[in-house]
Amino acid sequence: MNSEFDIIKKFFTFADTRDDVLIAGGDDCASVVVPPDKQLLITTDTLISGVHFPAETSAEDIAYKAIMVNLSDLAAMGATPAWLTLAISLPEIDESWLQKFSATLAGLLKRFNISLIGGDTTKGALSITMQAMGLCDKNKLMRRDQAKTGDKIYVTGDLGDAAIGLHVLLNKIDDKQLQVCIERLNRPQARVEFAQQLVFYSACAIDISDGLVADLNHIVNASACGAQVFLSRIPISSSAAYYFEKYNSGEIDWSMLLTRGDDYELCFTISEDKESDVVKLAHRFDLKISCIGEITKSTAVSFLNAENKPQNFTDTGFKHF
Ligand code: ADP
Ligand code: MG
Repeated sequence: MNSEFDIIKKFFTFADTRDDVLIAGGDDCASVVVPPDKQLLITTDTLISGVHFPAETSAEDIAYKAIMVNLSDLAAMGATPAWLTLAISLPEIDESWLQKFSATLAGLLKRFNISLIGGDTTKGALSITMQAMGLCDKNKLMRRDQAKTGDKIYVTGDLGDAAIGLHVLLNKIDDKQLQVCIERLNRPQARVEFAQQLVFYSACAIDISDGLVADLNHIVNASACGAQVFLSRIPISSSAAYYFEKYNSGEIDWSMLLTRGDDYELCFTISEDKESDVVKLAHRFDLKISCIGEITKSTAVSFLNAENKPQNFTDTGFKHF
C-alpha cells in the first residue's frame, strides 16, 4: 500500500453501484444518467480537521458527519440522494484509519442507496470534501426564497444539542449524561426521508447548519419577508435542559442553542391549511416537529421571550472569516 491508487482500490471502491451510473471511478470523469422528468441537485461541503471537527475525532465519526452534512443540504431542498464524490487529503497512509472511514462510508452509502462515483486522493492535512448529487421531480423542490406571509415556521428535532456537545468536548466536561450531545455533534441525522415527502406540502426550507438565527435570516432575506419566533416554542432536548440546570444555574442560554450551529435539522414553512397533514407525516417518520412561529410582512426576524419581549442575538452564527 504505497500509492493513492492502492488506497482508492482498497478503500474507495464499492461493489454495488446504481444502474444509472455509466462510469464510476477509473476514468477521468464519472458519468450518470438523469431521467428526463427529473432535476439534478448538487451540493458540496468540506470538513477540515481542527475547523469542522476536533482533531481527535474518530475516523467513523468524521465519515459519518461528512456524509450527513451533505445529505442535509439535499434534504433541505427535498432531493433524493443518488451519487457522491469524495476528495480526501490525508497526512499519511494509515490503513486502520482508512478501514474505519471506509466501513462507515460503505454503510451509509448502502442505507441511502448512493453510489460513490469518483473523487480525488491527495497527501496533506486531513480534509474531506464531498459532493452529493440528488434528484427531484421537475420543479418540485423546496427553496429559501419561497416563504410567504402567514406561513407557519417549523423545525425538526431539538436545537442546540450539538453546540452543547462541542462545549462539553472543548471544556473537557466529564459528564455521562451529556454524552448524547457529543453524539449529536458527531453523528447528525440528516432528515432525508422526511424531506422527500415534505416537498409535497412545503415550498420553503433550509437546513440549520449555522444556528437557527442565521439560517432563518437566510430564508427571510431570500423571501423578502420577516419572522416572529417564540423562544418558549423552541424544542430543547432533556439533555440540554439538564445541561442548563446543572451548569448554568437553570438559565437557558439561547445564544448557545440558536447561534452556534451543527444541528442539521430542517427549518421549513407551510401554509396553515397544510399543518395537520405535515404533523401526520412527521408522525409517520417518528420525527418530532415543532411550530416555532410565523412568517410576517416586516423584513425583520424577532425572537420573543416568555415575557413577549424581543431577545437580541449579537453573534448570529458561525462564520469562517
Ligand atoms: P486523474 O487522472 O483525473 O488525476 P485520479 O488519479 O485523481 O485521476 O483518480 C483516478 C480515479 O479514481 C478517478 O476515476 C477518480 O474519480 C477516482 N478516485 C480518486 N480518488 C477517489 C476517492 N477518494 N474516492 C472515490 N474515487 C476516487
Ligand atoms: Mg484527479
